[in-house]
Amino acid sequence: MSDIYEYITRADFDQVMTPNYSPAGFIPVRGLGSRVWDQSGRELVDFAGGIAVNSLGHAHPVLVHALTEQAQKLWHVSNVFTNEPALRLAKKLTDATFADKVFFANSGAEANEAALKLARRYAHDLCGAEKYEIISMTNSFHGRTLFTVNVGGQAKYSDGFGPKIEGITHIPFNDLTALSEVISAKTCAVIIEPIQGESGVQLADKAYLEGVRQLCDENSALLIFDEIQSGFGRTGHLYAYQHYGVTPDILTSAKSLGGGFPIGAMLTTSQIAKHLGVGTHGTTYGGNPLACAVSGAALDLINTPEILAGVTAKHLKFKSRLEQIGRQYGVFSHIRGIGLLIGAVLSESWRGRAKDVFNAAGSEGLMVLQAGPDVVRFAPSLVIADADIKEGLNRLERAISRLTQS
Ligand SMILES: *Cc1c(COP(=O)(O)O)cnc(C)c1O
Repeated sequence: MSDIYEYITRADFDQVMTPNYSPAGFIPVRGLGSRVWDQSGRELVDFAGGIAVNSLGHAHPVLVHALTEQAQKLWHVSNVFTNEPALRLAKKLTDATFADKVFFANSGAEANEAALKLARRYAHDLCGAEKYEIISMTNSFHGRTLFTVNVGGQAKYSDGFGPKIEGITHIPFNDLTALSEVISAKTCAVIIEPIQGESGVQLADKAYLEGVRQLCDENSALLIFDEIQSGFGRTGHLYAYQHYGVTPDILTSAKSLGGGFPIGAMLTTSQIAKHLGVGTHGTTYGGNPLACAVSGAALDLINTPEILAGVTAKHLKFKSRLEQIGRQYGVFSHIRGIGLLIGAVLSESWRGRAKDVFNAAGSEGLMVLQAGPDVVRFAPSLVIADADIKEGLNRLERAISRLTQS
């Protein structure tokens, strides 16, 4: 193939892509496990996991098998027909959680869109048109559709897109008093990330979530847990709500759920789900056989005591070494997070330099994430090899050492 489409470079991005992203200077072309190779053949360790998505690393043989086997059979039929992989996955998800019913979407934002619409419809059906208020947390992130940026607690994502959606109140995260002051009979739902991911890996307190659950019950408001980032094994439990022992009414899942194949899901009880009657909501691709086949295979692998215990063990490996790097170079004030969702909080003198760390890590052959300007985030494969953890952290240390010299 010797035509103009063969030689692709990073400069092409600026030519042909909308400028809403600013990707790294290199282009990954291949991945295996927790290693990735770029166009030049340079090898990188992957601590980013495609933003907490590649839950079993790259090209995991079980997922490749599930995908290619399904690819030979049936790709798409729409929801005018149902399909076996979707039903199989829904059975597995309901067996493994509090939920009785599943709605499949294609992304996290769409799963949240379904959850928020269902909460409003449920309240409307039961209590009438006045019960539509949604309470959400400042700094939260729930996706980039118009509804989800309005619900999300970061004005920079919702400003400048016309009138705001009404009936959404934002209050500080982890502050039960703040919730008790605004929740009322008009509240239809409270939506929370049990672990705020995008805004810096902030964990909710157990007592707080217990209190939120109680306030929701007292006000007949639904509790929605957005587990798009915290779910599907990332905390060492299948879902973070199981770690906290606080059960939501609606749970949204995506990211790790597909192990790299796009899929989202909204989980809920029969009693609530029945308000999503025929025709109330839908999507062409949701429950796509390819996505569901891959996700079902991922669930079988991840939801085992060995893999989940491994997540916790790997957390400790990350934490102790990151703390040591933090002490040695004065770069991190503390390490927070749970399982393989870890935030290294930059110290006072490094404030605002997460992008510098991201770039320096890339130069040393390591993919990491930022979570805001002050936190370096790690969301690797749940089965990342200990040798890859060690090598990646060696590279991180080299990157930081280099930054201290410049
Ligand atoms: C990533 C994320 C979303 C949005 O998911 P998309 O697949 O990007 O639409 C929503 N909520 C949380 C907590 C997320 O981390």
